Amino acid sequence: MKKEEKKNTLFNKDILNGKRPFIISGPCSAESPEQVLEVAKELAGMEIISALRAGIWKPRTRPNSFEGVGEKGLKWLVDAGREVGLPVITEVANPQHVEAALNAGVDMLWIGARTTVNPFSVQEIADSLKGIKIPVWVKNPIHLDLQLWIGALERFSNAGIEEIGAIHRGFSVGNGTKYRNNPLWEVPIELKRLFPELPIISDPSHIGGKRDLIASLSQRAIDLNMDGLMIEVHPDPDHALSDAKQQIRPKELKNILSKLIYKRDFSSDIDFLHQLTDLRIEIDELDEELLLLLKKRLAIVEKIGLFKQKNDVTVFQLDRWIEILNSRGNLARKLALDEDFIIEVFKTIHKESIRLQTSMQLGKK
Ligand code: PEP
Ligand code: MN
Repeated sequence: MKKEEKKNTLFNKDILNGKRPFIISGPCSAESPEQVLEVAKELAGMEIISALRAGIWKPRTRPNSFEGVGEKGLKWLVDAGREVGLPVITEVANPQHVEAALNAGVDMLWIGARTTVNPFSVQEIADSLKGIKIPVWVKNPIHLDLQLWIGALERFSNAGIEEIGAIHRGFSVGNGTKYRNNPLWEVPIELKRLFPELPIISDPSHIGGKRDLIASLSQRAIDLNMDGLMIEVHPDPDHALSDAKQQIRPKELKNILSKLIYKRDFSSDIDFLHQLTDLRIEIDELDEELLLLLKKRLAIVEKIGLFKQKNDVTVFQLDRWIEILNSRGNLARKLALDEDFIIEVFKTIHKESIRLQTSMQLGKK
């Protein structure tokens, strides 16, 4: 394991308060005291919700759209939370927001995806929290950069914040998927591997961008062992002032949550363990065969590299590459293997072939 990949135990699960799944819900934006209170009452009645959310300052992509009700909404949120007995959380994007939120008595803060991208903003917010004990949740940056996400988490940790959690809300990259933000589940999974003690919850509302996708995304998050969910609800979603398409009514949330299936982390049943061990031995053997095959394949790649070099031929041959992609794709389909997966595997193999042959030509090998 490389040094920077050492498992970090800096973060701990206190922020979850012993509740798993930890579910944060509430409107995308606070719109009126009545709207916040109505939602708060319904959520509290479900007895599975851990915190009430509402955006007060909304970071919008274009100006002239609803940018949040501003500071006055903090009181609506805090009052509603106190009335129903739920802790409240809002988004802060600068030290002024922090000050106003703390003065109003907000219990937890989250950092939005558009703020996490900017280390200057994150540092300013972290500095404004020095000496203050408040849990902070950090959404992933909008673009795919795990280090930037980790960096923001570390800035809060360095500022002395002890209860820190991460919110996975997908990435605005490589779209063309059915989601508003590409979930790229491997990213929160890698974050979990690097920081096993860091609580991570998923935000299916902002990943999906459509209410129909919330149930399946929530189940996926639970299946991947996420610690909880952040889901937007509104009493009248179609008329919500922000994120109307992805908000659901509280009773729809209740329905979705009641249908989630929780699998056990593990089982200590002896039969299960024996069968699992046997199957894992088979996998280990197959992986060894795969590696030996790759070694054989790369030896031939080297021979071809020498041959090309002797004959003054370029390393990359477009026609051959297209032929490989087509034939391996066809074979994958015939074998009922996922074609995209097999193409990805061959892209990785091909990249290594090119790297090897190029370094041979440069005389490095
Ligand atoms: C939100 O939670 O309403 C929000 C603005 O989210 P994000 O920062 O993930 O876009
Ligand atoms: Mn929103």
